Amino acid sequence: MAELFYDDDADLSIIAQRKVAVIGYGSQGHAHALNLRDSGADVRVGLRAGSASVAKAEDEGLRVLSVADAVKEADVVVILAPDQVQRHVYRDEIAPNLQPGAALVFGHGFNIRFGYIQPEAGHDVLMVAPKGPGHIVRREYVDGRGVPVIVAVEQDASGDAWGLALSYAKAIGGLRAGGIKTTFTEETETDLFGEQAVLCGGASQLVQYGFETLTEAGYQPEVAYFEVLHELKLIVDLMVEGGIAKQRWSVSDTAEYGDYVSGPRVIDPHVKENMKAVLADIQNGSFAERFIADQDAGAPEFTALRTKGEAHPIETTGRELRKMFSWIKPADSDYTEGSA
Ligand code: NAD
Ligand code: MG
Ligand code: MG
Ligand code: MG
Ligand code: MG
Repeated sequence: MAELFYDDDADLSIIAQRKVAVIGYGSQGHAHALNLRDSGADVRVGLRAGSASVAKAEDEGLRVLSVADAVKEADVVVILAPDQVQRHVYRDEIAPNLQPGAALVFGHGFNIRFGYIQPEAGHDVLMVAPKGPGHIVRREYVDGRGVPVIVAVEQDASGDAWGLALSYAKAIGGLRAGGIKTTFTEETETDLFGEQAVLCGGASQLVQYGFETLTEAGYQPEVAYFEVLHELKLIVDLMVEGGIAKQRWSVSDTAEYGDYVSGPRVIDPHVKENMKAVLADIQNGSFAERFIADQDAGAPEFTALRTKGEAHPIETTGRELRKMFSWIKPADSDYTEGSA
């Protein structure tokens, strides 16, 4: 059974006594910085000069410094720049300015697991990884709740890295929901697998194939959109509340029977073999290598795939439909349709 942590297991005063530098102010960075600040920590944000995030952080009343200056002031440095740039920022701006004994906090284990960042022995290295998007991490905190977190310590130089990790997890609201003890290796490999095979990659491809199958058979794209994309959220909400069993309980017997007889025809055992191959590429580092090589070359493959995805007919249909209906109100003002 996994080891679980809640608010009572953590001491907020540990993080409240530290000077925290949050590097990056994107999805996770803004949520961590604001939640830490509202929990009583002394927070500054480190950003590149000219970054579009500077104004956003200053509008929230946060002090914004260069990465180097933020790191010089801090005894806790939180690395929430994109995974593919973290090693450059670490080598050029963090490591040369890192105070002796300062702790390093990550939101995902990628750079430690694959060896792109190798901190010196004197630093605590820990991870507090919310299991949800940053905008939800902030929204839940403001509403008095939290997004569950998984917590790991890679290097315990101070002897109390766990105390700091749990204090940090509590400060961002994660222990209101609950924390699970993990390792950098487990978090990195399962996070990459989950997003590739099921949550992002698997679900996106499943929805696109469903949409293509219906529209190629002559059904209206708007109706297909509802059946294979819009309703997915309602089904997933039921799964989160009560597992696949609750989803099956809530749908009609017709839908439940169809689930049993047709689900395994669509997602057949070959899909599981494909999943194992995807997991192997994560574990042996070849996915990380391919991602970083493409990013270092200016992301040609990434950009081409993003453009191709945005051009899929389900996106055009969805954009038009969502304009016509009032029930979808985007809560995140920094996302613009078609600009992912
Ligand atoms: P993001 O792309 O939303 O934001 C990155 C931020 O870093 C931006 O403010 C950007 O301006 C800044 N930045 C970029 N280059 C920089 C540089 N050279 N120096 C300083 N700042 C720089 O990133 P994100 O999605 O929040 O991801 C951050 C980390 O959190 C990653 O490790 C990611 O895996 C992890 N994570 C993200 C989510 C999520 O919800 N997006 C969920 C769990 C974990
Ligand atoms: Mg994840
Ligand atoms: Mg991830
Ligand atoms: Mg239906
Ligand atoms: Mg039923």
